[in-house]
This record gives sequence, C-alpha cells and structure tokens, in this order.
Amino acid sequence: MAADVETVVVGAGVVGLAIARALAGGGREVLVLERHAAAGQETSSRSSEVIHAGLYYPAESLKARFCVEGRRLLYDFARENGVPHARYGKLLVATTEADLPRLDAIAEKARANGVADVTFLSQSAALALEPELACVGALLSPSTGAIDSHALMLALEGHVRAGSGSVVLNTEVEDIAVEADGTFALATQSAGAAATLTAKNLVLAAGLGATRLGRMLPQRGSYAPPVTYPARGHYYVLEGRQPFRHLVYPLPQGAWLGIHLTLDLAGRARFGPDLEWRDDASTLFDDAAGARRARFEREIRRYWPGLPEGKLAEGYVGVRPKIYREGEVAPDFAIHDVRHHAIPRLVALYGIESPGLTSSLAIGAHVAALLPA
Ligand SMILES: Cc1cc2nc3c(=O)[nH]c(=O)nc-3n(C[C@H](O)[C@H](O)[C@H](O)COP(=O)(O)OP(=O)(O)OC[C@H]3O[C@@H](n4cnc5c(N)ncnc54)[C@H](O)[C@@H]3O)c2cc1C
Repeated sequence: MAADVETVVVGAGVVGLAIARALAGGGREVLVLERHAAAGQETSSRSSEVIHAGLYYPAESLKARFCVEGRRLLYDFARENGVPHARYGKLLVATTEADLPRLDAIAEKARANGVADVTFLSQSAALALEPELACVGALLSPSTGAIDSHALMLALEGHVRAGSGSVVLNTEVEDIAVEADGTFALATQSAGAAATLTAKNLVLAAGLGATRLGRMLPQRGSYAPPVTYPARGHYYVLEGRQPFRHLVYPLPQGAWLGIHLTLDLAGRARFGPDLEWRDDASTLFDDAAGARRARFEREIRRYWPGLPEGKLAEGYVGVRPKIYREGEVAPDFAIHDVRHHAIPRLVALYGIESPGLTSSLAIGAHVAALLPA
C-alpha cells in the first residue's frame, strides 16, 4: 500500500517543527499535525527562552551533545533568519563560601561537555560586572543567551512550508495503527471531522502528550513508552527597572536550576521557574495565599538583596514533560527508535524538557537522519 505521506510529525512545538524543517529542507515530504489553532501553544511557548551553553548535563549524554551543538546551530539560524536573540551571558553565582567548590565542579563538567569559554570570577570581578549582585564568586558563561521562542517557531514553520512540508493545525491524532506492511494509519479529528491518514514514517514530538500517543502503538517485547510526569514552573515578572545585563542563576538543586533571573529581548526581567510536581498539566497561576511570591522574594534576595518590595507581578506557568518521579535522578532525553520499541520507521520523543529549546535544531537533524527516505 502506498502511504499518503512520507513522514508525519505529530506536534508543532519547537522540536516537531525543527524535525520537520530538517526533513523539508532536504526535499523530503513531511506533514506536521498539531491539535491547537497555532504552533507552539504548549511547553514551547512557556519556557525561560534561554539559549543554554551546556554546563550541567552529564558528559556524553544526549542533553549535553544536543545542547552544545544546538546552541551553535540556534545562534546561526537566529542570525540568518532575523529571529530576535541576545548573547547576554550568564552568571552562575555562589552565595556562600561553602558553595564555591560546586562552581569548580560545574566548570569541570562544562569543559567535559566542550564548553570552553566558562571562567571563574572572584567576588570583586563579579560585582564589577553586576554591582547589585550578592555573591562570593561566580562562573561567567558568555555563550548563554536568550531567544524569542515565538519568532523562532514562526521562522521554522516558514521553512517547513517553503520546503517540501506542510503544517496542519486544529488536527488531533486520536489513534494510531500499524498496518501489515508497516505503514502507519492515523485517525485524526479536525473541527468535528474524522479522517484517516497513512504515513511511511512517523515521529511523535508531542511533548506532554507523547506517552498517550506512544501507548496507542503496539507494545513489542518488554518495551513500554516512558511515563510522562508533569512538573509545573511559575514565573514572576519584575515591574519597572532592573539593573542587570546578564542572566543570573543560583546553584542548581539536583536537575532544578533554581529561581533564576532571565532577560527577555526587551531587557525586562523575569524570575522562575519554581518546581511543582503535579498530577495534571494545568497552566493556571496559583498563589492564592501569597506563599509562592514570598518564597520567590526570599530566593531572589539571596543573590539580589535590592529586589524592591511589591514589584513581582504574576507571569505565567510552564509545564515540564518529565519522565521521572520526584526524588529520582533526571534521565537523558528519550529518543526512541526501532532499537527501543521494535517498530521500524517510528521515532518517539519523550521527556524533552530543558534544554529542549536550545537543542531543537540538533534534535531535528538527528531525528531526520533516523528516518529512511
Ligand atoms: C518552565 C520551563 C522552562 C524551560 N526553559 C527552557 C530554556 O530556558 N531553554 C531551553 O533550552 N529549554 C527550556 N525548556 C524546555 C523547552 O521549552 C522544551 O524542551 C521544548 O519546548 C519542548 O518542545 P516540544 O516540541 O517537544 O514540546 P511542545 O512544545 O509541548 O509541543 C508538543 C506539541 O504536540 C502537540 N500534541 C500533543 N498531542 C497531540 C496529538 N494527539 N495530536 C496533535 N498534536 C498533539 C501539542 O499540542 C504541542 O503543541 C523549558 C521548559 C519549561 C516547561
């Protein structure tokens, strides 16, 4: 049976679009299906928008590899396509003497990941860069930056449409079957109209929806798709003037990077995300009793004692598609192909949390190379 399309990508977040762009840029037929009325309405539009350097991730991991490679690709892509971005640089700060050895360990990890430009700053050198900072020492990561993630996704979508691809919105994939010849048959729902579409290759880049889709496929041997656990992160935005020119991060706590300060492309400051494990993926900002704001103020004042009273305004909530439970060690990105699930021509992505935005173009190239023409 001839399939309707060579490759279907489910999910028009930044990762699905980057995969489709890599395929369409090579002249390969690709169709992206997205359940919302626009691309990037879920995790991809609710992040810190930081272009990470690649400091934290275990050496040789996909996270380390794709972050370092993706960062380079992303700066090039943003420059060539007029996507607003800024190489602000980042200060990773130790606020107590006891934390200083942790900076050395992170600098060591960064070097192992091929991030060669990280330098240690004494307290006075850090304060010379950011006079309002409180710290006893810091690492400077000059290649960390910020990007307008919405403009990035628009540009990627434009590349897909200008190449041999299309993006179909308002279309939810409700069921998937594998035909006898290995073709994928997708049952879709679009504004109340049901349809079936067949594809030779299938990519699941569905973020928080990935496990639900993965479970629709036949489970071969002992394989089961990873379970997705939503973990919410709230952001506050600073009203009014802010004195920083760099992004400022406290030391990470496990895989959580702490309440950090990022700058958007207009130089406005926002703080977050916190980490809240939940059973649902609600994006409702929740601080009825004011305890969350108080906790943010306490955390921020460790590195910025001058945070003015009453200047944090509620921002937004992003939801991480984690594939581990609270208290467990964070695993790598899970990019599963036939070697994992024994289904030829299927690539399924799970747990694409941070640094997924930074890694998107590198993941796109990797996944495209896994799919036969
Ligand atoms: C709070 C937070 C902060 C972050 N900060 C950063 C950062 O600073 N830097 C960085 O590099 N990364 C960051 N990340 C990670 C980054 O945002 C994600 O890795 C990335 O956006 C994931 O993109 P995605 O395309 O995989 O998922 P998504 O953006 O979630 O896209 C998946 C798409 O699939 C669609 N979909 C799902 N099921 C179906 C279905 N059945 N049919 C049709 N469509 C479907 C959804 O509607 C959605 O649009 C952050 C993430 C969070 C949550």
